[in-house]
Amino acid sequence: MTPERLLGTRLRQLGLAADMEVATHSNRTVMLSVTARGQLRLHRGYSHAPDRVLRAILRFIDARQSRERRRAAEREFLLFPVHAYAPSSKGPVRLERLRPGDEAVLQRLREMHRGLNVQWFEGTLADVPFRLSSRMKVSLGELCLDARNKQVISIAISRRHLRRDGWAEVEHTVLHEMVHQWQAETDRAVDHGREFRTKAREVGVAPAAARAVLGGNGR
Ligand SMILES: [Zn+2]
Repeated sequence: MTPERLLGTRLRQLGLAADMEVATHSNRTVMLSVTARGQLRLHRGYSHAPDRVLRAILRFIDARQSRERRRAAEREFLLFPVHAYAPSSKGPVRLERLRPGDEAVLQRLREMHRGLNVQWFEGTLADVPFRLSSRMKVSLGELCLDARNKQVISIAISRRHLRRDGWAEVEHTVLHEMVHQWQAETDRAVDHGREFRTKAREVGVAPAAARAVLGGNGR
């Protein structure tokens, strides 16, 4: 059974109401929502989350919990880096066909990675393939990890981001993903936790914003 199929079962074992339907998605800004019909929709990256994170999700959607406890729960599950565990296509990453001009862009990204690696990581990070994604509409960049062994597969950069935001912003995105790469390659947890924030500050990037929305039933 895939981790995704297992997610509903795991949530129920941890106390999710038996009649609540679970669905996964890969929307990049809204990590979690409860629909008016009582369906729990969450990012499919959560199928790789440990029980601790799933319990936080259950506390967050539990209306009987105090506001403070639910806020704390929200902070906890937002720290889990769903994007690191959910490449934008199932199975092996499907490569998009290269377009005219892509090779020059990819070359520039590889050089940027090499320079930043020397500047901030003492050249210790592995060279990593870049790919350009037109499917990424909300997120700017994404470190793709093999969920089984945390091996770094690639860094994807959104074509829309490249088109709209300019190279200074793209460099910021690449650095953010490189901090995750550093976490993965040094056997640290790949997340937005304290170590991430410390390292991010050190290299001059801010942790990514993410938000959770509860819709439908007015909570
Ligand atoms: Zn991140």
